[in-house]
Amino acid sequence: MAANRIHNFNPGPATLPLSVLEEIQQNFLDFKGTGMSITEISHRSREFDDVINDAVARTRRLLGLDDNFEVLFIQGGASLQFAMIPMNFLAGGQSADYVDTGTWATKAIKEARLQGKTIAVVASSEDENYSYIPKNIAFNEDAVYVHLTSNNTIKGTQWAQFPDTRGIPIICDMSSDMMSRPLDVQKFGLLYAGAQKNIGPAGACLVILRRDLLDRIPETVPTMLNYSTFAAKNSLYNTPPCFAIYTIQLVLKWLEEIIGGLGKMAAINQSKAQLLYGFMDSGDFYRATARPDSRSLMNVTFRLPSEELEKQFVEQALANGLGGLKGHRSVGGCRASIYNAITLEAVQALVDFMKSFEKENG
Ligand SMILES: *Cc1c(COP(=O)(O)O)cnc(C)c1O
Repeated sequence: MAANRIHNFNPGPATLPLSVLEEIQQNFLDFKGTGMSITEISHRSREFDDVINDAVARTRRLLGLDDNFEVLFIQGGASLQFAMIPMNFLAGGQSADYVDTGTWATKAIKEARLQGKTIAVVASSEDENYSYIPKNIAFNEDAVYVHLTSNNTIKGTQWAQFPDTRGIPIICDMSSDMMSRPLDVQKFGLLYAGAQKNIGPAGACLVILRRDLLDRIPETVPTMLNYSTFAAKNSLYNTPPCFAIYTIQLVLKWLEEIIGGLGKMAAINQSKAQLLYGFMDSGDFYRATARPDSRSLMNVTFRLPSEELEKQFVEQALANGLGGLKGHRSVGGCRASIYNAITLEAVQALVDFMKSFEKENG
């Protein structure tokens, strides 16, 4: 590991592959012989065109997207998508189904309702503090889309399989598990992910959209909130977040060329999660908070026997080069975010520290 770098288990912005950061560093002052930084060149230049086109092409290859899908980069984070989705795809007289699996799903529901849209919350795990993913959901046949949150960053749960919606397109917030596993994309109408969890820095939201849905968008949607604007101009209607897109491109290149694709990435992510959950399950000092069948492979939430011990754990972990282990302020406890760029060795280092902390305090 490079000098001074810690194992960074932050939930987002989050750790990036070291080789990507080094490549950015090496090219930062002179991008591709232009004599300018990527942060200084025109978004209309041939050099930036190559960056965005490569990012799109890699997204297509990694996820196996055919020509029916658009790949877009939009600012405003995943949070703006909460508002854009109903604005673009839910007209008066129509209804959409939402599943409430915790904080971010709840916010998506709120944004649809703020616009006076008709939605049905067809399932929720609020009754058990969002510690599980609902099963056997009855979707409304006339729903125009089903909104899901594939990985619940704060509550530490994840859809292991996506439900059968009988042809109703799934619109899915994949902010914290995008590119962590292969997907059956045919189930989805739209996928979105704020880049800063698993695929890059803050500033860009990756949106993958089934092209036929563009026909449903009302003409009254403001230009910059209309998916058609981004689709028609390859995300270059106005100045895009160039640096974020460039970093995403490099992360996707790392995924393809160093990791070897999403199948390989998923296997590594499985091993990491198994190591951590397996260790916690082997004793009773650390208690994973999500139900075993709903556990996230990305955000591992857990408790210690007391809040005082949790505080000490987080502090001492940092002193030992393991950062970002505090749970979200809304739920407390601890959380290890083990996104793609976290190595198996980093998880092993965490488990080793957890063992020694338990020995001293158990
Ligand atoms: C972080 C997060 C968001 C919010 O993302 P922003 O880009 O900050 O708006 C939304 N959904 C999920 C699942 C997240 O993890």
